[in-house]
Amino acid sequence: MTRKADITFDGLLAQLHARFTAANRDAARGVLRDVQLLIMGLAGLDKAGLIARGGNQVPENVLGHIESGFARYELGEPVHRILGRREFHGLDFSLSPDTLEPRDDTECLIELVLSHIPDRRSSIELADLGTGTGIVGLSLLHELPHARGVLCDISGSALETARANAARLGFADRATCRQGDWLAALEGMEPFDILVSNPPYIDAEAMAQLAPGVAKFDPHAALYGGADGLDAYRIILGDAAVWLKPDGFLAVEIGHDQKQGIHDLARTTGWAISEVATDIEGRDRAVLLRRDQ
Ligand code: GLN
Repeated sequence: MTRKADITFDGLLAQLHARFTAANRDAARGVLRDVQLLIMGLAGLDKAGLIARGGNQVPENVLGHIESGFARYELGEPVHRILGRREFHGLDFSLSPDTLEPRDDTECLIELVLSHIPDRRSSIELADLGTGTGIVGLSLLHELPHARGVLCDISGSALETARANAARLGFADRATCRQGDWLAALEGMEPFDILVSNPPYIDAEAMAQLAPGVAKFDPHAALYGGADGLDAYRIILGDAAVWLKPDGFLAVEIGHDQKQGIHDLARTTGWAISEVATDIEGRDRAVLLRRDQ
């Protein structure tokens, strides 16, 4: 970036937009949005603030932040990794190198769970397995004002991020964080009404074809689901029954081509798929399972 002492926010935006469009980065798709998000995040401005200050000179220290952020962007780092935060379900979540970056697809899982709760004011006990940033469990607590949630992860560092997000978003009194390997994290607790998870589900073949921004910056452990992508579901479906109340349910996000695999696994582990939800592109993205009567 050519350091120009008197550059305005508008000037900087135009300059960076032109530069990254010319580089044809990611086929120029979303470049303007990326550039805007980065400038806003790095300058500590919201959209209204950026518009209002468009003609103002960018302060020297802010320009420094923006330069170092764009140096990372140039090397392919995703915008929300650089900012260390991302919005999900209208809530602002912090990320860390040990957490998956939240994906909009996961909204399907939230909606699927909510659509099976007759009364959102009931006192539901839920557990989010492999919580990462905590987006699934905390978004549900946001929608269910009397629910309590246990956020579980095998990674202590991811759990620190989930704990910090829970506290910052005002859920500290309703969310408990527990470290452990899938359902082992629940040891000693009472059965739940809902078990929910967006586990790692990418298979070996797809891992080899991940976009560089994903392969390099999302944690491997949060992505890779074993050779066929179903390892986590084998564990979860194998162990979940004892952790659910009799009329409780289990809901998981899945890969778009995994419905059949989950169906087969469910049959051998005593579960039945009661609903499949599709994402915005019409692909299978989440399933709700109940005990097979
Ligand atoms: N539950 C977290 C999320 O949906 C983490 C998922 C994961 O790491 N696979 O973002």
